[in-house]
Amino acid sequence: MTDVVLDGVHKVYTGGVTAVRNIRLRINDGELFVLLGPSGCGKSTILRMIAGLEEITEGDLWMNGGRANDLPPRDRNVAMVFQEGALYPHRTVKGNMMFPLEVSGDDRAEANARVMELARALGINTMVDRLPRTLSGGQRQRAAIGRALIREPSLFLLDEPLSSLDAGLRTELRVEISALVRSTGTTTVYVTHDQVEAMTMADRMAVLRDGVLEDVGTPEQIYED
Ligand code: ADP
Ligand code: ADP
Repeated sequence: MTDVVLDGVHKVYTGGVTAVRNIRLRINDGELFVLLGPSGCGKSTILRMIAGLEEITEGDLWMNGGRANDLPPRDRNVAMVFQEGALYPHRTVKGNMMFPLEVSGDDRAEANARVMELARALGINTMVDRLPRTLSGGQRQRAAIGRALIREPSLFLLDEPLSSLDAGLRTELRVEISALVRSTGTTTVYVTHDQVEAMTMADRMAVLRDGVLEDVGTPEQIYED
């Protein structure tokens, strides 16, 4: 469980591109928060700063009330899913989902039970012994989500996870992802350029344009404006 506050956050990349400026944002504990905006507006930059993968140039990041600007990624208890799941190609679905538990040295039988339970929740329990390349794009993203959630992160970050999928699958998966993260109560930040996706998934959302926050609120509040 985690809340996240960005207080006056700027990001200037080496080379001089200002990606985001003066971002003020509170993401509440247990919330499914969507960052919406066109390509290049700074969504990924914000997500990567929250994950600790990108340095914050100016301003403060707070996680659970503690200043987190300099907290190493491994101490943030975050899990991230990208557009292409980036599964380990030589590992089966189960091997991929098991990997984070092996690293932390969890009991093997318990780990196996947890993987199977989550695989069932994700609708991929009949595919756990298959290699990623033998799966559809949607199944691969389910496996990537499974690998990300297996250690029950405090904070779940998704960067355009459905943008490589066709429209039908996107609709199906956005419903499933919403249900899954809400059932676990995991604080989630979901990045997309798709307005419908944002409106249908978000508890609250932020609209970003050219590195600046234009609007923050529930989909209803944003829609009224
Ligand atoms: P989005 O996720 O909304 O597509 P990004 O956060 O990826 O936007 O990019 C925001 C801006 O920062 C863009 O102008 C992009 O070109 C620039 N940018 C992103 N990553 C880097 C980088 N590693 N080095 C320099 N500029 C970058
Ligand atoms: P194998 O032993 O058959 O090479 P592994 O399951 O060890 O298969 O790894 C499969 C792929 O995942 C390899 O390309 C490997 O580089 C990559 N990989 C394994 N562990 C990690 C890790 N901790 N971080 C990033 N990539 C990894």
